Amino acid sequence: MSMEKVSRRELLQGAGALVATTAEIPRRLLQLGMTLGGADTRSAKTALGGFGVKEGAAIPTNDGAANLRPDFEWIRSVRLMIAEGYVPPFYPSLDYKPERALALARRLNCEAFRYPTYSYVAFFPTKTKFPHHPELGGSDPFRETVNLFHDAGLKVVAYNPLNHPFMDVNSDNPEYRDWMRHDAEGKPLITRHMGWTRFYEGCLNSPLRDQIRERVREVVADYPVDVMYFDGPYEGMDQESRFCHSKYCQAAYQKARGKSIPLEDGSATLQDLIDYWQWIAEDVVVAFMREIADMVRQVRDVPVVFNDTGLLSRSVRAHAYPYVDGFMFEAAETPEQKLFNMRLGQSTGKVIWTYISSHTEYNTEHLKDKSVRGWYSAPVEGERLELDAAVATAAGAGYCYWGLNRLYYEPQDILDVPSIRSLKGVFDFAQKNDRLLRSVSPRPQVGILTGAQTIRWYQSPMFIPQAYRNYYYGAWQLIKDLGYDAEPFLDYEMTAERLGKYKLVYVPNAPCLSEAHCSLLASYVEGGGTLLATHLTSIADEFGRPRRDYGLRELFGANLKTPEPLEVPDLYLHVLSSGKLIPQDPQVMLFQAANGAEVTAETQDRGHRRTLGPAVVRRRQGKGQVIYIGSGLEALYEETLNDSLRAYFHSLLDPILASKRTYELEFRPGLMPQFASSQSTLLLHLLANTGNIWKKLLVQEEFLPVKNVRARLRLPQGQSAKSVALMWSGTKPDWSVHDGWVELTVPQVQVYEVIRVDLA
Ligand SMILES: [Zn+2]
Repeated sequence: MSMEKVSRRELLQGAGALVATTAEIPRRLLQLGMTLGGADTRSAKTALGGFGVKEGAAIPTNDGAANLRPDFEWIRSVRLMIAEGYVPPFYPSLDYKPERALALARRLNCEAFRYPTYSYVAFFPTKTKFPHHPELGGSDPFRETVNLFHDAGLKVVAYNPLNHPFMDVNSDNPEYRDWMRHDAEGKPLITRHMGWTRFYEGCLNSPLRDQIRERVREVVADYPVDVMYFDGPYEGMDQESRFCHSKYCQAAYQKARGKSIPLEDGSATLQDLIDYWQWIAEDVVVAFMREIADMVRQVRDVPVVFNDTGLLSRSVRAHAYPYVDGFMFEAAETPEQKLFNMRLGQSTGKVIWTYISSHTEYNTEHLKDKSVRGWYSAPVEGERLELDAAVATAAGAGYCYWGLNRLYYEPQDILDVPSIRSLKGVFDFAQKNDRLLRSVSPRPQVGILTGAQTIRWYQSPMFIPQAYRNYYYGAWQLIKDLGYDAEPFLDYEMTAERLGKYKLVYVPNAPCLSEAHCSLLASYVEGGGTLLATHLTSIADEFGRPRRDYGLRELFGANLKTPEPLEVPDLYLHVLSSGKLIPQDPQVMLFQAANGAEVTAETQDRGHRRTLGPAVVRRRQGKGQVIYIGSGLEALYEETLNDSLRAYFHSLLDPILASKRTYELEFRPGLMPQFASSQSTLLLHLLANTGNIWKKLLVQEEFLPVKNVRARLRLPQGQSAKSVALMWSGTKPDWSVHDGWVELTVPQVQVYEVIRVDLA
């Protein structure tokens, strides 16, 4: 239930980052809540994982599907309705009736229902010290829900917040003083959350920790739920970046690190800050997730899922996924970004769930208190809802409709509402094609290294944290617009085995790379791979400590001339082979090409009538090759969707990728493909994000169809096509086969279509 909080918070933090100088860094780090890299000698594991992802995290199989026990398989594509405990009909007034929820879930063709065991108050008669909802009385709506849904053949998922803020500042509960986080002066750290009231944040080292564990134990021991879902663990929310000085944190930190918790007055050294944040992340937060998951499995062996929406953020729980069976990625600002995040999540080997109707808020620009949200889910309607769901279908993610609050008070049949009828259409489609959709796997040719270590550790006066995503999202958009499939993966999950899956590895501006990771990339190229790396890649180690030159200087065949990039207006990329001038990123690295590296493009500074030197170098190494681009061209593409940039990348990548491509799709703005296949079937999902509003992303949009889309799908060696269908529209297109390719024209893509080719 973090509702994109992380990105919003980071946006605010990022604004502060613009003005920091080196001398200000310690104070700034206090504000950011995370730290610049520093010496960490405690373990190699930590050095590789930043916050210490433990070794042995599941590596996905070669076909890209998460490894799940057969009896847990059903969670992969679950059609879940969420009953949110922070809003009506649960809070502040308890209007909830299980019979009403069951009727709605069945009407929408959901197979599972998420019940809030707790939000700010308990919705079951817990014997722990947590407050019950005042209207709960002697009833147990949780018990009634489990019985009723199970009798009807539906599954129940228990929602369990792990230290999500709940302590109302207006309460006279005597425990709260003992459980709260507070600063060095004893001032409570407070969160607003949904705008109902304000809440003290809880300290995970206080006796609250045992209370939470006991409440979770009650749930899994006393109620036969089918999945245990966790929101958290949190150590603060709005104030996550503040240090907790409770007596419990003080004592625990003294015991663990032999020193006091740093003060927030600028007196702490860099190493103090690094030690503190690593302790909070690893020893407190991630350790709690592990403890809870272990306890659940001991009591009753059910799937464990948690909310890891902040996987690409400074969130202290980002690395807890090795201990669960799957995780939730809530929402993104665009469908393209959402598909990226689904696929990134799957690259960890875990099942991914996502909100459907993700944009549960509008911009609320005119509201004084931005934590007050309106209507919940209602603004997401019609084709926007359908597109959101289609992204989940294309990715093979589980659907979590958010939710019950949207439907509960509807006076008429919910299927009279067009957008809800279309959502049921998605669920019907998912159910009808469940077997087929589970049987296929993505076949990415490109791996996109995603700089999680950079997000966590990198600091520099030139670095704009809230815009860093433009590099990895830009790389994704470019590869998709060229008609290839990519799999994003986390930098710290890099292994030789993983790299070996890809024909090309794209490293879009990853400053923070360890020596070990640089070596892995060099071996990958030596063995025949192609590496495309851009901008600041490898100029710092995994904790952001600057190197004097690129860590990959030998592989690139490039040497850094200045440590920071240069910004100049109106630069052009001069492509030497063609003589063409195309837009260059106005922020470039100055570097020299080494012997044996071929300069293929230079940067022209038109305003000063000069050349700034090499812009792109290419080099062969062993059986492979490297292309290094000394600027963030992919971020420029993300921000402009410029045609000549796309054409330039086409000229770079097509010679490498075209011979093994799985499909070919003519470029149409807004049309995004996602391919998957099995021994017997090829599927090409087409997502048409052709809405009419781009500037205010949370505003309701209308969508236009994309007409007459020409597509080709390559037949695997020795196989022929038996039949071709368009699954979403339920039509049979004209098709033909030429030179081993199935060719067809899709008459129209209105939001979504799937080309299905059955093989003989
Ligand atoms: Zn604390």
